[in-house]
Amino acid sequence: MLFGSHDSSKIKLCSDLKFFILVYDNDYHYFFDSHKMSFHLFKTFKINYLNRALITSLTCLGAIGLCPRFAIAFNTTTTAQDNSTPKIVTTFLPVHLFTQAVVGDTGEVEILISPGAEVHDYQATPDDAKLLSEADVLVENGLGIEEFLSGLITNAGNSQLQQINASEGIEVIEEEHDEHEHEGEEHGHGHHHEEGNPHVWLDPVLAQQQVATIRDGLIAIDPNNADNYRTNADAYIQQLQQLDNEFQQRLAPVKGCNFITFHDAFPYLAQRYGLQQEAIVEIPEDSITPQDIQRVQQAANQYQVKALLTEPGIEDKRIQQISSDLNLPLEAIDPLESGETDPQYYFQAMRGNLEALSRACQ
Ligand SMILES: [Zn+2]
Repeated sequence: MLFGSHDSSKIKLCSDLKFFILVYDNDYHYFFDSHKMSFHLFKTFKINYLNRALITSLTCLGAIGLCPRFAIAFNTTTTAQDNSTPKIVTTFLPVHLFTQAVVGDTGEVEILISPGAEVHDYQATPDDAKLLSEADVLVENGLGIEEFLSGLITNAGNSQLQQINASEGIEVIEEEHDEHEHEGEEHGHGHHHEEGNPHVWLDPVLAQQQVATIRDGLIAIDPNNADNYRTNADAYIQQLQQLDNEFQQRLAPVKGCNFITFHDAFPYLAQRYGLQQEAIVEIPEDSITPQDIQRVQQAANQYQVKALLTEPGIEDKRIQQISSDLNLPLEAIDPLESGETDPQYYFQAMRGNLEALSRACQ
């Protein structure tokens, strides 16, 4: 039974012997339905989003509606089986998509960097520290992309926080550098990640490894829900395998296709499918100079590139100008650092990327 020592609970006993018991403490809510002779557990994560008083009132009203009532307060224990999920926080979009896919309907997953904000150079907020101070689990991509994280974890002061690094065990590719990058200047993605290139999620095969790592991490932390995590991860990994097949088939005829990008996000994707990310041309955020255009021109000639890859939403006239000056197609590839939080969004965006790569490499 569920009851015991510390917090209060209430019984509503009805004249027709129908009754409800509402038991609540800091973490768990249950009520007993005498008709069904069963206990119902309100999961912790739902309680967090609802007003506890409201739940209590509604449950009591249900009982009042049935019969005259009286209430007895007594103490409870919380030795009940724990069907709730830990409070899980992720850093930014790709790990959020993968974690939510593994968790499924078992619970809610929170995200620190709301879609639309930029993970590179992100500045953590006091709200982030609060979220982390109340979390049980933090899932990160790792490989140095979440540069804000170490300071944030210190600020959150949550000694119970367990961390899952989704990139654990992945063999990294060193980051490329634009040789002509100006000394001491930060050009968007121009900063270096000590641990190698972090954009592993853009390879559908490494994405499977990340999902499996998140699954295993959650099972270790929350074995009660192991079956759910396994089932959900299996289904998602199967979808990733299907996506990998599509990439293999569509890109096989254009193997060796060279491209220039303005964001060093695609070396894993390129390596997987035999494409060549030949150069990363950092474009200054403020002003573009004739020298910048010349650098793109040189790289384009040197590597005989087929296309320039940019990102959706970046309608940079200068990049369009370079594209038309050099007569190189300009295609948008989504690095998935921002976007919708539904786990299926990954497939939608990646299939769009596959179309764009196919067009660019024809
Ligand atoms: Zn990036």
